[in-house]
Amino acid sequence: MIQSIIKNVKNAPHSGHLASYIPALANQSKDLFAACLVDERGEILTFGDVDYLFTLQSISKVMSFIVAADHLGLDRVLEKVDVEPTGDPFNSIVRLEVAEKGKPFNPMINAGAITVASLLPGDSVESRVKSVTDFISKVTGRQHSVNQEVYQSEIETAYRNRAIANYLKANDYLIGTVDEALETYLQLCSIEVSTVDLAKFGLFLANDGLPLNENTKLITRKTAQFSKALMMTCGLYNTSGKYAATIGIPMKSGVSGGVLCTVQDGQVEHLKGHMGIAVFSPMIDEIGNSVKGMDFLQQLSDYYKLSVF
Ligand code: GLU
Repeated sequence: MIQSIIKNVKNAPHSGHLASYIPALANQSKDLFAACLVDERGEILTFGDVDYLFTLQSISKVMSFIVAADHLGLDRVLEKVDVEPTGDPFNSIVRLEVAEKGKPFNPMINAGAITVASLLPGDSVESRVKSVTDFISKVTGRQHSVNQEVYQSEIETAYRNRAIANYLKANDYLIGTVDEALETYLQLCSIEVSTVDLAKFGLFLANDGLPLNENTKLITRKTAQFSKALMMTCGLYNTSGKYAATIGIPMKSGVSGGVLCTVQDGQVEHLKGHMGIAVFSPMIDEIGNSVKGMDFLQQLSDYYKLSVF
C-alpha cells in the first residue's frame, strides 16, 4: 500500500511554491521527492531522491534545542524560552513586544530558536554550530556541514530575523551579541541532510535518545519528551494544531521542504515499533509546510493508523 500512496502523491499536480524568500532555495527542482522510514531494528524503506541533500531550515530548531538542553540542563534553557504554542507565523515579532517581558514562546519559532542558538556550547559562532553538526553526526553516522550558498543568501536577506534578535537582546533573552546569535541560527538552518538522515533522527527521538545500532543514549528521556511535545504542539508553524488532530504524529517541517517525524509505536509494512519517518518535497504552502510531504504523511497516518490519538 505504501507504494501506491507514494505513487499518488508523487504524480499529483504540483501546488505551492519554492521558498523564494531565501534566494538559493528558489533554484531547487520542484520534482524532487524522497521518503524514508526506519524502525528500531534497522529495517528501512526508501523511495525517490533519498540521497539528495537539502538544508534543515526550521528542522534545525529541534537539534539546537536538544544540544542546548544537554549542555545547560533543560531548566536553564526553559528560563530563556517557553514551551507554549503561538499560532503565529514562524518569523512573527508581535508577541515579543506584547507578551510579558518579551520571553520567546517556544524554541520551534524563530524567536525561540535564535535565543537557543545563543545558548549553545562554545565561544564562537563556529564552535556553536559545530556542537550541533557533531551531535547530528552521532545520530546519523556521517559528517554534516553548512551549505555556504544558502547561508550567505539567508544572512543577506535576514531583515526580520535581525529585528527579532534585536528585540530578544533588548529584553535579555540573548547571550552574546545579536550578530553572533543570528549567524549561528542561520548557519544551523543551512546544515545539509538527506531524507535518510532525518528518518534516523526521528527514530533517535522515538528511542528516547538512542541512535540506531548504538547502546548508549545521548540525551535524557526528559529532553526527548520535551522535544517530541514541542514538535507535536509547535512543529508545523501555525498549522500545528490542525495536523496534531489530522495526522497526530510529532513532526517538524522546514521551508526547504523536509519533514521530520517520530513514531512512538506503529507498523508500516514489515517495519514496526519505534520508527523514524522523513519526507522531502520542496514545494511549500503559504504556511511553510511541504505540500506533498504533508499529503504523504496524512495518507500514511490514515492508512497505517499512526496517530497517537
Ligand atoms: N532560515 C529560515 C528563517 O529563519 C527558516 C525558516 C523555516 O524553515 O521555517 O527564515
